[in-house]
Amino acid sequence: MDGAQMNCPVLILLGPPGAGKGTQARMLEEKFGLVQLSTGDLLRAAVAAGTEAGKAAKAVMEAGDLVSDEIVIAILRDRLAEPDCAKGVILDGFPRTTVQAEALDALLASTGQKINAAISLEVDDAAMVTRISGRFTCGGCGEGYHDTFKAPKVLNTCDKCGSTEMKRRADDNAETVASRLEAYHAQTAPLIEYYDAKGVLQNVDAMGEIGAIADQLGDIVASATR
Ligand code: AMP
Repeated sequence: MDGAQMNCPVLILLGPPGAGKGTQARMLEEKFGLVQLSTGDLLRAAVAAGTEAGKAAKAVMEAGDLVSDEIVIAILRDRLAEPDCAKGVILDGFPRTTVQAEALDALLASTGQKINAAISLEVDDAAMVTRISGRFTCGGCGEGYHDTFKAPKVLNTCDKCGSTEMKRRADDNAETVASRLEAYHAQTAPLIEYYDAKGVLQNVDAMGEIGAIADQLGDIVASATR
């Protein structure tokens, strides 16, 4: 049997744009050998590839709104069925609506899996615009950087792989960030209660230093997957 299956850890990272879900998911991926599953990355790849889903998602993403549940659930379902997901997954940016959360429950139930933990990264909205508008990633290896908080040692050169191709996301501008935060509060924040009611919620203060937050998440994941 391929894809995510019985007894594979399933972790969810919840939090507004800029909370550090992607950064933390990548660190957990390395530390625990899990697979980071970012629906934002999957959608950006679909847009770049010009697939039907990508064509439908492009304008919605540029406006900072949520892509339809139907498209996102289909993309996630296909990705979860790939063999590497048998190692266990960290969902980054999914689910973002109650419909998606219920679809995930159904999907996991059909393969005898459960959610080990839903970790809510708690941050102040006001800080998110600064965090997001300064961020960029290495086009070579995907390492994340920030103009103020984490600049590369050599200007425009990746510390990790040496690539000089740096990428900024089209939706990382102040106007779109405001819409993304609004979408988060209206449609995604209710999931905090949803997972609390299931007894899997863990809250983490994510305003501090990246390494200290990673240590806290590491402890949560270690005990949730024991
Ligand atoms: P992210 O990379 O997680 O910040 O996502 C970037 C954009 O992709 C979001 O602003 C949405 O437009 C879209 N997106 C990503 N994940 C989802 C999701 N689970 N549901 C709906 N839209 C999503």
